[in-house]
Amino acid sequence: MSMEDYDFLFKIVLIGNAGVGKTCLVRRFTQGLFPPGQGATIGVDFMIKTVEINGEKVKIWDTAGQERFRSITQSYYRSANALILTYDITCEESFRCLPEWLREIEQYASNKVITVLVGNKIDLADKREVSQQRAAEFSEAQDMYYLETSAKESDNVEKLFLDLACRLISEA
Ligand code: GDP
Ligand code: MG
Repeated sequence: MSMEDYDFLFKIVLIGNAGVGKTCLVRRFTQGLFPPGQGATIGVDFMIKTVEINGEKVKIWDTAGQERFRSITQSYYRSANALILTYDITCEESFRCLPEWLREIEQYASNKVITVLVGNKIDLADKREVSQQRAAEFSEAQDMYYLETSAKESDNVEKLFLDLACRLISEA
């Protein structure tokens, strides 16, 4: 794709604890696959994917495992138009860390950034630790859009990115 053919260039950044499925969500959306194998992303896996959504150019930033240290560098947040704040519905800890991520957002992101709260791994319903109601209440209190996904089963992944792109275009 050529740079000149686009009216907008949006930057979407995925954040959240290691292991919640950020890399798998990006892979599912951009490549249509769920990578086999275990474990969270390690250093070499850093990706910036450029995709076209609704005719607009969107760069999706995944992290390279720095989220292990809880603090992502400022450059990740800089000029982000949207953030996908991800937790794992089967991992209470990943939900409990959300306020820390929100503090980072407040500190580093633009005050115009659109943040979406995503509870991933809904295919593991029998292992659920975070109820939909809790997450919905939390997201409402923070004025965030909230969605549950499965990168594995491809549930709501397309919707997540397409809805976000639509909102970005409408608010641009
Ligand atoms: P990241 O550290 O947030 O980038 O997490 P990864 O995308 O590397 O995924 C961490 C682990 O969770 C891997 O073992 C994935 O296979 C698994 N995983 C990611 N998304 C899902 C999902 O939707 N369902 C299930 N069952 N496992 C998932
Ligand atoms: Mg990762």
